[in-house]
Amino acid sequence: MVVVVDTVSATPLRPRHPEKVNRPDALSPPKPDWIRVRAPNTRGYADTHKIVKENGLVTVCEEAGCPNIGECWDKKHATFMIMGDTCTRACAFCNVKTGMPGALDAMEPEHVAEATFKLGLAHIVVTSVDRDDLADGGAEHFAKTIRAIRARCPTTTIEILTPDFLRKDGALEIVAAAKPDVFNHNLETVPSRYLSVRPGARYFHSIRLLQRVKEIDPTIFTKSGIMVGLGEERHEVLQVMDDLRSADVDFLTIGQYLQPTRKHHAVMRYVPPDEFQGYEKVAYTKGFLMVSASPLTRSSHHAGDDFAKLQAARAAKSR
Ligand code: SF4
Repeated sequence: MVVVVDTVSATPLRPRHPEKVNRPDALSPPKPDWIRVRAPNTRGYADTHKIVKENGLVTVCEEAGCPNIGECWDKKHATFMIMGDTCTRACAFCNVKTGMPGALDAMEPEHVAEATFKLGLAHIVVTSVDRDDLADGGAEHFAKTIRAIRARCPTTTIEILTPDFLRKDGALEIVAAAKPDVFNHNLETVPSRYLSVRPGARYFHSIRLLQRVKEIDPTIFTKSGIMVGLGEERHEVLQVMDDLRSADVDFLTIGQYLQPTRKHHAVMRYVPPDEFQGYEKVAYTKGFLMVSASPLTRSSHHAGDDFAKLQAARAAKSR
């Protein structure tokens, strides 16, 4: 039997996913040759690592075991994960640790701002664990982090990738009032797969959350993403695109699901690159301003370059 242990933090042998330890192993097919990643051994990677650690920060790049870390960190692109390294949800696809998180670090917004400054980022992505234990789901902490980055790095554009704030009335409004440039909330998968993949979430709540952001402030770009290879059908992916367009979402990302351990959801299928291209084409016809669809697409991958394209696409549309 495989024991799911923490392979990221300095405390080995602590169950990382206590709720998954007793699950039977889920076997995925071997990775195809189009899933290739750069090894994390460059000077830029080492510099990014140093700044992250010196500021005591957590990154989703490490916690989620992102395959793009070698490429992104070499360019000093890291995505900070605020409010701790422990999540109150236990999604079947996610490698982030599950459990009861600790108290918020009041200095974290300043530390994130300082690291953004030191990395010299023109565009920063900030995400978080789910904090169902907090009355506002961590909304005020998100807002403080946005304000701290604005104060320290006034020209840096800010993208946030938030939890769903389910049953946290007023939380979304607090975050939107801080005016991030991009508000991302991932749907993760098609509605028929929610019960097995994202059981703590509600599909239509997530769609409505994205729609509300646009209603509150139409200048904020909205973004969402799904993973494929989790057992979804093509027509379901196309329906998700329509649902997101109904909510006026600007930017769609589609990437291949990769299994973090054998205790996580199995990869049902590796979607070939030409199918991703097909999804991208269809998504543009449905009216998204930006679409990124490829096996290694992740929400924050190339986020800075994509933000510039988003702005250009909006400007072209309004001409
Ligand atoms: S794609 Fe995003 S999460 Fe992955 S390494 Fe790059 S910045 Fe980090």
